[in-house]
Amino acid sequence: MAMKYSNRFRVKPGSKVNLGKIDAGFTDTHESHQHALPEIEAYSRKLHDLQYLMYAEGKRSLLICLQGRDAAGKDGTINHVLGAMNPQGCMVTGFKVPSREEAAHDFLWRYHKAAPGTGQVGIFNRSHYEDVLVVRVHDLVPRPVWSKRYDHINHFEQLLYDNGTHILKFYLHIDKEEQLQRFKQRIDDPARHWKISEGDYAERPFWDAYTDAFEALLGKCSTAHAPWFVIPSNHKWFRNLAISKIVVETLEKLDMQFPAPTVSMDEIKKKYHQAKQAASGK
Ligand code: AMP
Ligand code: MG
Repeated sequence: MAMKYSNRFRVKPGSKVNLGKIDAGFTDTHESHQHALPEIEAYSRKLHDLQYLMYAEGKRSLLICLQGRDAAGKDGTINHVLGAMNPQGCMVTGFKVPSREEAAHDFLWRYHKAAPGTGQVGIFNRSHYEDVLVVRVHDLVPRPVWSKRYDHINHFEQLLYDNGTHILKFYLHIDKEEQLQRFKQRIDDPARHWKISEGDYAERPFWDAYTDAFEALLGKCSTAHAPWFVIPSNHKWFRNLAISKIVVETLEKLDMQFPAPTVSMDEIKKKYHQAKQAASGK
């Protein structure tokens, strides 16, 4: 049997990740998007059913954290994964430069508030990892401050997990040429001009510093209770398939159950359905 994606792309706790050695263009055995379509659609259906079950069960929750460089496909992933789910029971939160109020609190404050409640799926478009990424690369706080955050993050995620929140963290891995290609496509498509920011280009000289920061957090913060996955993302369809598969594999393992009915079906039928039929002479 083929190796599960939840094992294959998972970062082993404490391992040293070398992103340069991971092929961002990987598509497994799939020849093309066209060939993979039936599988992509099958996983979308499974995702739909499992999220419905999580909502109905109302006991646990799922938190999906998406990280990646500009144009890595965070928005596209959300569109795909969420498109498979019922919006009732899902919440997406995007994290930008902290507001004045957010900056006046500890760095985890705004993320904790957005964590999903029981029965809910929460998606973070960027996450608490920005506080050891952009913050580290640009020295937004001194090293002694950000370097303690890895432990804070692991403890925070342990707290969520102990409270019934399953956490999956995805690093969308694209290479430098692919990013430039995607920026270029935005220029060629008027419907995507709004996405272009000069800041995105300005981050490119910091590519290697970001690589170091990503490798550090992947090594330090992939835990049994909140694993990181490095997803080859040069091909959008493969990225969507891989993430859907990992979410499905994870939710299937939870062995969720519909709550027991609060009423007897027989009695309800007898009382309201058969009686009604008898009364109407049918
Ligand atoms: P976007 O996701 O393209 O809308 O951009 C959001 C911007 O907010 C990115 O440039 C992030 O690096 C930045 N950002 C997110 N979280 C933080 C943070 N905690 N501190 C500083 N900048 C952040
Ligand atoms: Mg951006």
